[in-house]
Amino acid sequence: MRNIVIVGAGTAGLYTAAGLRERGFEGRITLLGEEAHRPYSRPPLSKEALTGLGLAPGPLAGNRALRLMEDAEIDALDLDFRPGTRAIGLDTDARSVKLDDGDVAYDGLVIATGARARRPDTDLAGVHVLRTLDDAEALRPLLTHHGRLVVVGAGFVGAEVTASARALGVDVTLVEAAPTPLTRVIDPRLGSVLTELHRENGVDVRLGSGVAAYEGDGTVERVRLTDGTAIGTPLVVAGIGVDLNTGWLRGSSVELLADGSVACDVYSATTAPDVYAVGDLANWPHPRYGGRVRLEHWTNAVEQAAAVAHNLLVSPEEREPFTPVPYFWSDQYKMKIQLLGQGAPADQVAIVHGSVEDRKFVAFLGRGGVLTGVLGLRSTPRTMRYRGLLERTTTWDEALAAAGTSR
Ligand SMILES: Cc1cc2nc3c(=O)[nH]c(=O)nc-3n(C[C@H](O)[C@H](O)[C@H](O)COP(=O)(O)OP(=O)(O)OC[C@H]3O[C@@H](n4cnc5c(N)ncnc54)[C@H](O)[C@@H]3O)c2cc1C
Repeated sequence: MRNIVIVGAGTAGLYTAAGLRERGFEGRITLLGEEAHRPYSRPPLSKEALTGLGLAPGPLAGNRALRLMEDAEIDALDLDFRPGTRAIGLDTDARSVKLDDGDVAYDGLVIATGARARRPDTDLAGVHVLRTLDDAEALRPLLTHHGRLVVVGAGFVGAEVTASARALGVDVTLVEAAPTPLTRVIDPRLGSVLTELHRENGVDVRLGSGVAAYEGDGTVERVRLTDGTAIGTPLVVAGIGVDLNTGWLRGSSVELLADGSVACDVYSATTAPDVYAVGDLANWPHPRYGGRVRLEHWTNAVEQAAAVAHNLLVSPEEREPFTPVPYFWSDQYKMKIQLLGQGAPADQVAIVHGSVEDRKFVAFLGRGGVLTGVLGLRSTPRTMRYRGLLERTTTWDEALAAAGTSR
């Protein structure tokens, strides 16, 4: 293989390029990215980029706090990097990616186009989403300018924007249709701790009601909830999930699943020859979780990139299955929340260190008598030391014994 094309210059795309060079690939690597910027890290966008903490003054683009790698490290990868370049189609027979102004041929292809923030159904000014550096650049002066914000959706982006806005003294209402924050990823018994955290920090939390309408005359003035309540605000951030950037693959032989994700096998290979997928859009069977997984986590983008780089370069027999322990973190109110494995659904929950009341604990989550997740709040070393239990099947009782706790 002499010519690898990576489409998508986010975390997954850049780390795949780095992984190929680390493994000695000397051929051509073309990195196509729709955004005008060099690859950057998204997690700070809802944290430092809004609070300004640890950020140098000036524009966000190029700011150290947002870098994935130093410029010199990226330069050393010797990439044909093409910012502002969007893939619009794929011909897997001809092995070429279609651009607005021509085609790019490949021997091996990596799909790393990630996701975009889902936009609420309104054209009113003042209703924002947060996915890109440009989104953050647009939002940050408005927080202190208005001093008032409604956040819609208490997933990790919504929860972090809420916490960052509170750090700036902004008056925040957080609206979530589900009964607890982060319901998709954390069992409600622990999710309720996050509700309390927001309330303790002065957030007006409205759970169990969705948004019926955004109201205003050209600019948002109110958010109307499904229970009829109206919340006045000149500024909204909607953190209502993502849509995957896989439309450009339609009509190719790369199979997409019903949610638009890319169907991969356990090696992250797609249904087209020498085409792999990595990061937020990849969907693959994970033997320890009894089904397919797709992870919108920074660490997954990095780890899967290394796996894809390896599998692209070796013979079929030498490929390695990608079976990670999922991991994500979130920073809210100067507290680190970490989840290893899966935090929902769970039928067993046990606090194995600390206590919920102290806002410092490690909790085990289990399903069917097996440990499936470890959730930590302000407990990094203690949380991470249980990673090994999730690398294999560990029964609930074995897990409790390892933590020095009995049933
Ligand atoms: C605000 C925010 C905070 C986050 N915080 C955390 C956190 O605390 N912890 C955590 O674990 N995860 C966090 N995440 C998630 C994490 O950032 C993502 O999982 C990660 O960015 C996924 O990387 P990716 O490369 O798969 O996709 P992306 O980062 O979406 O990158 C894909 C790139 O492809 C480009 N692209 C799209 N379509 C095309 C096309 N047709 N042609 C060319 N280029 C294209 C896009 O412009 C984009 O630059 C956060 C995400 C956001 C948005």
